[in-house]
Amino acid sequence: MSIFLNEKYKNLEVYTPGEQPQDMKYIKLNTNESPYPPSPGVVAAINAEQIENLRLYSDPECNKLREAMANLYGVKKENIYLSNGSDDILNFSVMAFCSDNTPAAFPEISYGFYKVFAELHNVTYKTIPLKEDFSIDYKDYMGLNSFIVIANPNAPTGRYLSLEEIEQIIKGNPNNVVLIDEAYIDFGGESVYPLTKRYKNLIVVGTFSKSRSMAGARLGFAIADQDLIDDLNRIKYSTNPYNINRLTLAAGEAAIKEDRYYKENCKRIINTREYTQKNLCDLGFTVVPSKANFIFAKSDKISGQALYENLKKRGILVRHFNMSKINDYNRITIGTVEEMQTFIKTVKEILEEVK
Ligand code: PMP
Repeated sequence: MSIFLNEKYKNLEVYTPGEQPQDMKYIKLNTNESPYPPSPGVVAAINAEQIENLRLYSDPECNKLREAMANLYGVKKENIYLSNGSDDILNFSVMAFCSDNTPAAFPEISYGFYKVFAELHNVTYKTIPLKEDFSIDYKDYMGLNSFIVIANPNAPTGRYLSLEEIEQIIKGNPNNVVLIDEAYIDFGGESVYPLTKRYKNLIVVGTFSKSRSMAGARLGFAIADQDLIDDLNRIKYSTNPYNINRLTLAAGEAAIKEDRYYKENCKRIINTREYTQKNLCDLGFTVVPSKANFIFAKSDKISGQALYENLKKRGILVRHFNMSKINDYNRITIGTVEEMQTFIKTVKEILEEVK
């Protein structure tokens, strides 16, 4: 830390991203990426012409991609906002919708960035405890007088709230914005974006990083009433109007055209998730029911930390959170069937050794 850093950032606890090791090839089950490549159209879209055009700025309005997405989701272009990864939208939303009078509120165990953004912008926040089984009780979210953020399915638990439960939360907070972070919705959940037509206080946030295999391209989106989208644009046009690069826009447009390819991948991932869950249960693990592309599991035969370390030694990366209440668990991203077979075989070997 330099002596020049603004006081207000000196004690900031920054977000710790999952490991992205460059030293050797791991079976990488630690950051919820897709095991499948982007669709053929995306590969073709990043061509020489696109690369030559990199001398030009990208379209700040992202018109083509917003139109394509509006068609796919059955909303208007004005209801869509695009960003450099959905993290950007979470950040901008805290800037836009929190204030001295409006704190943030989110589940006690959830995506770590919510807290970081609140602290970055000096916003106070409440964390709402989960139930014993890690589920969220929507009744805990009534009349909070806060900007509410809920990941649905939640991370790192994979637990899911139904559309009806989310609707209760939206109705229960008519004077505040409710942001539903649907990073993992395509793996078996039902998106609540259709509710944006009826509720002016709802923002639904999605990403191309998971189900659409484009984590490295950085592309996130929000669907909401036009007024909320305009608010996000105020922040965007006060920071970085060209926040999505040309190659990512081209890739995104191609991905939307091949929606079926991604839906098929999601089905495969869901099947592999069921396979992994069953096999872990057979090995005595407790597995939290998941509607995401990961599962959250613990064993009473080995600590979460020891399992993480043993897997890493054998070339498999999972995510361990050294935090109270979830210390015993690991979050395991669902890879290909072959990767998960290797994972299960390796877990068996590790359990044999610690017997
Ligand atoms: N929300 C949740 C719940 C996540 O787990 C992630 C991925 N780390 C994100 C948002 C951010 O995704 P991205 O910025 O890649 O769109």
